[in-house]
Amino acid sequence: MTDITAGADRQPDNPYEMALAQFDAVAGRLGLDDGLCQVLRACKRELTVRFPVKMDDGSICVLTGYRVHHNEARGPVKGGLRFNAAVCLDEVRALAMWMTWKCAVANLPYGGAKGGVEVDPRTLSEGELERLSRRYATEIASLIGPERDIPAPDMGTDARVMAWIMDTYSMQHGHSVPGVVTGKPVSIGGSSGRLEATGRGVLFIVQEACRHLAMPLEGATVAVQGFGNVGGVAGRLLCQAGARVLAVSDSRCGVYNAKALDVDAIWDFKRAGGSLTDFPNGDHITNEELLALPVDILIPAALEGQIHDGNAATVRARLLVEGANGPVTPKADLILSDGGVFVVPDIVSNAGGVIVSYFEWVQDLQSFFWEEAEVNQRLHRLMVRSFQEVLARAEREKVRLREAAYMLGVSRVAEAVRARGIFP
Ligand code: NAD
Repeated sequence: MTDITAGADRQPDNPYEMALAQFDAVAGRLGLDDGLCQVLRACKRELTVRFPVKMDDGSICVLTGYRVHHNEARGPVKGGLRFNAAVCLDEVRALAMWMTWKCAVANLPYGGAKGGVEVDPRTLSEGELERLSRRYATEIASLIGPERDIPAPDMGTDARVMAWIMDTYSMQHGHSVPGVVTGKPVSIGGSSGRLEATGRGVLFIVQEACRHLAMPLEGATVAVQGFGNVGGVAGRLLCQAGARVLAVSDSRCGVYNAKALDVDAIWDFKRAGGSLTDFPNGDHITNEELLALPVDILIPAALEGQIHDGNAATVRARLLVEGANGPVTPKADLILSDGGVFVVPDIVSNAGGVIVSYFEWVQDLQSFFWEEAEVNQRLHRLMVRSFQEVLARAEREKVRLREAAYMLGVSRVAEAVRARGIFP
């Protein structure tokens, strides 16, 4: 089997080092030549901006933001925008690179990008958040556009932030440009089903993986780390599909019930602004304890690097479906594999968001909108196709799903670079 820990001695928990190590191992296996590897390893454009935001108390706060384009050989670049205090350039680079492979695995006509601002959005008022979003949009305006770079929500951003970015860009162009972002409200050109798309895609992958493992989903036990857009929706849909969600968590703590949690009640509690530390129905556990629960299915849907060589051996789930980007480090991946855990990698399992973002962009460009049932049906078709293609490759090449997914994604991007040639 390919060892994707190759090179992981270089700071394995740095997400960009992780992404490069994963790429290098797969490039070697695909036999890509040095020049092509250099092209595919490099982030094509990196913009760092420092910009002031006027706070409600009259003070000025200078923030740092990023927008990175990894590779645009297959089309305009696409990727989320993250507002989080821990955002840094290497994280954004890694996420941009993962987006390139993810879009290629799903066979979408996009390259990869990512953006971020070093800020904790929970500390901001609505007015401060709006001024920050509009100023950041202006600072990166030279990079974005429906034909070049289309941002979308990620951690700490939502449809509201996308609406502000779309409006700011439209004001600068003198007309409405809905296709400049995806994940916006339906009232201004958003797609039905986009809000739930990543979590729904996770559900489709869990269903396919369960079928493959001959493991009934009905009655299966589940733990979800991170109860936001991805984890919250996935948790609720899994309950509706007959699974029992025993534990969920947010950044502060987890809640656990040995029989099953009332996930809809937790969803309402979180939407009302509650922290799980105050949720009354269930035992409080730590995020580490959640990861080690004896459940059938584990869904890390919070941050990267959560399952590492220090805790991977404690994972007892049979199936691990990555909702977050990069939640398992390369060393942990080997430990999980040795322990018999079937891991579906992020670039397959959380592609639902970018797939429905693609549908949204297509609908915006045509000004012709689809019913939610059609969106979900098309999402299902693409998620199942990706999973089956990756599974077939894994079986053929005798590698894990992650290497198979990387091989598929990287080879499609390499093919596009070769077909276009090197300019001039
Ligand atoms: P979100 O902000 O809606 O939710 C994140 C959740 O994780 C929150 O419940 C937060 O409290 C929790 N969290 C944060 N830090 C944590 C920690 N250290 N331990 C445990 N929980 C923690 O974000 P989201 O959009 O759901 O994104 C989650 C992950 O999924 C990210 O890795 C993101 O890149 C990835 N992702 C998101 C989308 C999307 O469409 N939103 C698509 C693909 C991948």
